[in-house]
Amino acid sequence: MIKLKTQDEIELIRKSSLLVAKTHAEVAKHIRPGITTKSLDVIAETFIRDHEGAKPAFKGYGGFPATLCISENEQIVHGFPSDREIKEGDILSIDCGVEWEGYFGDSAFTYPVGDQTDEVWDLLIDTIDSLYVGIDCARIGNRIGDVSYAIQKYTEIDRGYGVVRELVGHGVGSALHESPDVPNYGKRGRGPKIKEGLVIAIEPMINAGSRKVKQLNDGWTIITADGKPSAHFEHTVAVTKNGPDILSDFEVIFESIKSNPNIKDFKEKVRYLQTNFQDG
Ligand code: MG
Ligand code: MG
Repeated sequence: MIKLKTQDEIELIRKSSLLVAKTHAEVAKHIRPGITTKSLDVIAETFIRDHEGAKPAFKGYGGFPATLCISENEQIVHGFPSDREIKEGDILSIDCGVEWEGYFGDSAFTYPVGDQTDEVWDLLIDTIDSLYVGIDCARIGNRIGDVSYAIQKYTEIDRGYGVVRELVGHGVGSALHESPDVPNYGKRGRGPKIKEGLVIAIEPMINAGSRKVKQLNDGWTIITADGKPSAHFEHTVAVTKNGPDILSDFEVIFESIKSNPNIKDFKEKVRYLQTNFQDG
């Protein structure tokens, strides 16, 4: 059952989502070759718990051991922090969730550490752009399939990437994962109707190569079957009368990236970031 949210509930989800964004921004200050992914996780957990009543949403969720999912290079999602040191040339998909005052926020961002190949830059920029193309379809009167199709068209149909089928976006609210599923592939005009008060996490997981995936023996980490890199960007979005309202925030993350020489600033290359989806 889809639970539509009141404006008061949307503001609580925004509060959690903005804390997720600030946690990303805090972590982004510390990303550098030589730091372990476990250290980044400690930074994130400490930062979240410094806000009274706020909790990491992933820690303990289904037995997940950490605050952040950190998935490196060919890892798609659900990688967990370890003693592995980050190295120049890695890309890190970091996913973070917060619960605060009974409501959740969820947002992911892929960080390029140092120089990247053209293939990887294209993957990052096309994936983030596909997220905004999907958000633009989260409008009253559309269906979830319109969001799904827009992302698939932008990435797989027009640009030849692999869209992961096994993992999808979702409703967000008083639970981290609610109805409906929000796949990154689908058919226009299909799926649940998008109504005012719907809050969803839209999260393209896009592979440079094949869409096929494998799971590591750790029981969590999902990787690309062909070993090629994968990118993941996610916003929590509310559907309002005036259009999609993005409750999480990449601007604060790009501010941190700008001041961290270990992460190349790619904000200028992103096509849709500055788009205001709220009309009126
Ligand atoms: Mg997430
Ligand atoms: Mg999510």
